[in-house]
Amino acid sequence: MRKLNYCEMSEEQLKLKKADLEERYAAFKARGLKLNMARGKPSTKQLELSMPMLDLLNSSSQLVSSTGDDCRNYGVADGLPELRELFAQMMGLEAGNIIVGGNSSLNMMFDTISCAMTHGFSDCKPWGRQNCVKFLCPAPGYDRHFAISEYFGMELIAVPMTPEGPDMDLVEEYVKDPCVKGIWCVPKYSNPQGYTYSDETVRRFAALKPAAADFRIFWDNAYCVHDLTDCPESLLSLWEECRKNGSEDLPIFFASSSKITFPGAGVAAMGASEANLKELRRHYSFQTIGPDKLNQLRHIYFLPNMERVKEQMAHHRAIIAPKFEAVIRWLKKELGGKGIAAWTEPNGGYFVSVDVLEGCAKRVVELCKEAGVVLTGAGATYPYGKDPQDSNIRVAPTYPPIEELELAMELFCLSVELAAVEKLLQK
Ligand code: PMP
Repeated sequence: MRKLNYCEMSEEQLKLKKADLEERYAAFKARGLKLNMARGKPSTKQLELSMPMLDLLNSSSQLVSSTGDDCRNYGVADGLPELRELFAQMMGLEAGNIIVGGNSSLNMMFDTISCAMTHGFSDCKPWGRQNCVKFLCPAPGYDRHFAISEYFGMELIAVPMTPEGPDMDLVEEYVKDPCVKGIWCVPKYSNPQGYTYSDETVRRFAALKPAAADFRIFWDNAYCVHDLTDCPESLLSLWEECRKNGSEDLPIFFASSSKITFPGAGVAAMGASEANLKELRRHYSFQTIGPDKLNQLRHIYFLPNMERVKEQMAHHRAIIAPKFEAVIRWLKKELGGKGIAAWTEPNGGYFVSVDVLEGCAKRVVELCKEAGVVLTGAGATYPYGKDPQDSNIRVAPTYPPIEELELAMELFCLSVELAAVEKLLQK
């Protein structure tokens, strides 16, 4: 039987539907759930995968690195060579252009922006002393990226995302403005839609000719090895393309092992051209006398090469792919063909992006919260936390155990329907 599209229902049909949905919603509320799908955190089971790493370093381990340095002491500012090599392979760069730092790539992004604000890039005035600083924010996107730009007082400009990446016609237009200093990118399995930038998008990034000499592309490859299927999507190397174009100073690359080993206790890396690294190394030299090399060593022993990284990621996939499948199954079963929601079916990353009927996202999040399921705040995926359509919701399937996820999705779909009926009856 064909499912009735909500937008074709009469007022009478909508009222009947509303009464039915409200009854089901009340029953859900009475169950007193307490579930959280707000952030893309690995589940406890995923964390277990890296527990052997903690046993690989003990008082009898080899603690002198291949550089001859005692890893218990200060030094080796760029990080241990083996880890620089591993990140180079993950990020499509060369080891010489990589710095392996502390536990968080977001921290490195913040520091890089901070460096630009106070000391500037390419011998330009620091951003903080220029008249205006604007930043391009592909939306929907990662809320913490946008929050860094907002924190430093920049003007955030939303650039619509497409399945190929950000709208490059707009990007090329915006960079003609010398106040536009950068763009946030999650090029593979983007947060939250799970889109991988097309080859053409990468080439157009490499070919950008911004008016500002101190414009930078923040290429956050957080999900570079985080595949969910047998056919990993491939991302063209921005580094190689920039080298062909002589635009090596445009991009700054980031990645981390947060969702490979332990978030908060992993290792993060940053990559850039020699000219950019010169400025960033100087900045770091004031900030720290060297990274935590014992943690770096632990990671080298646990993940000595790409083969091991792939093996580890296959274990993650075995845990989380069924959760993504469950989310998609619920969305299709409950919302498919009803004209009130559209969603992405990502092949990797950590999120599913759901667009509900315009003007309903806040209400859906509120309904879920009142019945005990916390979602990412509506609007979070847009600059300033404001989704002009009030439509996008980021679903994070990885953290809850699958039984809880199934319940949360049942409630989520019910809430999407209820919010839509309420909206349509207001018209
Ligand atoms: N970038 C993106 C796109 C992310 O989704 C996340 C985590 N949610 C991070 C960076 C944070 O990375 P880290 O733990 O290395 O700071």
